[in-house]
Amino acid sequence: MTLKKDSKSLGSEQKKSQNEDASLIELKNFENKKEIESQPLEVSKGNNNENGFLDFGFKESILNSLRNKGYKSPTPIQKAAIPELMLGRDLLGQAQTGTGKTAAFALPLIEKLSDNKELNAKVLVMTPTRELATQVAESFKSYSSESSNFKTVAIYGGTDYRSQISALKRKVDVVVGTPGRIMDHIRQGTFKIKDINCLVLDEADEMLNMGFLEDIEWIIDQLPENKQMVLFSATMPSEIRNIAKKYLNDPAEIFIKSVKKETQLISQKFLYVQRHHKLDALKRILELNNEGVIIFVRTKLLTTSIAEALENSGHTVAVLNGDIPQNQRENTVDRLKKGFINILVATDVAARGLDVERIKLVVNYDFPFDKETYTHRIGRTGRAGRSGEAILFVNQREKHFLRNLENSTRTKIEEINIPSNKVINEKRMEKLIDNVNESSLAKDENEENKALIVDVLDNLKEKYSMDDSNIAMSAINLVIGNKSFFVNEDDSWIHKQNNIDRNRSNRNINNRMRNSNRRNNYQNDSFETYKFNFGKFDGVRVANIISSICNSTNINGRSIGKIQIFNDYSLVDLPRDLHRETKNKLKKIKVRN
Ligand code: AMP
Repeated sequence: MTLKKDSKSLGSEQKKSQNEDASLIELKNFENKKEIESQPLEVSKGNNNENGFLDFGFKESILNSLRNKGYKSPTPIQKAAIPELMLGRDLLGQAQTGTGKTAAFALPLIEKLSDNKELNAKVLVMTPTRELATQVAESFKSYSSESSNFKTVAIYGGTDYRSQISALKRKVDVVVGTPGRIMDHIRQGTFKIKDINCLVLDEADEMLNMGFLEDIEWIIDQLPENKQMVLFSATMPSEIRNIAKKYLNDPAEIFIKSVKKETQLISQKFLYVQRHHKLDALKRILELNNEGVIIFVRTKLLTTSIAEALENSGHTVAVLNGDIPQNQRENTVDRLKKGFINILVATDVAARGLDVERIKLVVNYDFPFDKETYTHRIGRTGRAGRSGEAILFVNQREKHFLRNLENSTRTKIEEINIPSNKVINEKRMEKLIDNVNESSLAKDENEENKALIVDVLDNLKEKYSMDDSNIAMSAINLVIGNKSFFVNEDDSWIHKQNNIDRNRSNRNINNRMRNSNRRNNYQNDSFETYKFNFGKFDGVRVANIISSICNSTNINGRSIGKIQIFNDYSLVDLPRDLHRETKNKLKKIKVRN
């Protein structure tokens, strides 16, 4: 079975359906390129009109799974990409997460493979991180949930080989994985690639950032020559264009004109806070919004200490960091999705690609290392067309970074105050009134409980001669409990701080963050150089160093600076002020064993 077809032999029906998209897709100067507007996604549970998806000619099993997911109509990237991929064309797409790009490639591939009975995998999807691999594999699984015997397997580092090997031994249609682990399985012969007829490179720019270029090229060279190639990337630097030129055959090119509409759904705010007041400020923020929150911190140690502090304040919290085994991380994300956990404290690496629709607030507790990290963090909210809020904590030293961040993201980040006692107490009061009101509405729904309540009321009136207002007051008292309802801690520091910060001038603004070449610009003041005793003689390459550092510590690939490999040692620029625990881990790092 092959997925590849000649695009010139378009059937008239297919041509027609493509032309019908013309109102949305603007064909630009050169033949293949389609530039499209990004739009918020629409989801409707229950009352689903899947007409938009009917145009693609998908099998009923796929339409059913889309109906279950509540997708109303295809997103612009899906409208543009699906017809091309159904024809077997190669595709070069510029799209970020949140645009529906995963379904754009997954749906046509599932459609083509839904009758596949052969044992070996037909499609390989490569992603930069294990989090994205899991997420993409989950998407394939949910879109194929109604297609019988369709199998997707995820293979990535940091987990046991055995379960992956046994999954690869059985029938598999799609393999999703990270470059290092894919290479390992190919070398060991545990991943049979001779029947692969489609390769998808997802978040290709991120893979390049992490130094995976050589690995990707090695993998492509191992795969059968005649295959469909799909390349998605959030940005289109020349390196990506070069890969496209080298490996893609007359690809359809689709570019999202602007992703502004998605980020516009996220209201971006910042507050000034001194280091020693950060935890208190966080607790105060959570008084106003504590359902579906991600808090980003820089070190693993901080994730646990903050989570503990929040738990002690009565929140349901979980931690997501690189020390936590993969299956436990998946479990945590699942519990967050289902609402068993409301708050997640995470490091950047562990939360990469996290896609949970109910996230309403992202707190940047520690300032992000760069613009990309910030954009990724805030993108964890505002998912699937919903609105969201992002709050950035800024201390005196980080003020100029804030201005640079605003410049480089071309966004005005609005200043807010740390909630004072007055604000919090008003909110508590409002919540109490709402809760009592909601409970008065809800009690009609359960007849059994209603009878019980009437019984209790009668009892109180007869036995204790209580009147209605007495009973109501006692019930509210019961809800409040015996702890003091209002906050009355000293909050004078909040008022003082807001005044001091407002009066300070914004001198020393520089544009380091605006410059996209982070590695060179950050070098002088934000980086320290570390020497490692492995080098060219050990066969070490840049990608090996980056993946070892990322896998063994909480350091994000993007925050690694310049890497120089000499014959018997290597110099790596890493962020200044790394935590002692991280430094200890760096000392024990192994590269290629
Ligand atoms: P992605 O860009 O693939 O990371 O997808 C972002 C989010 O959009 C995911 O939560 C998807 O489940 C959701 N999504 C994808 N396609 C659609 C669609 N046509 N309608 C509504 N939601 C969608």
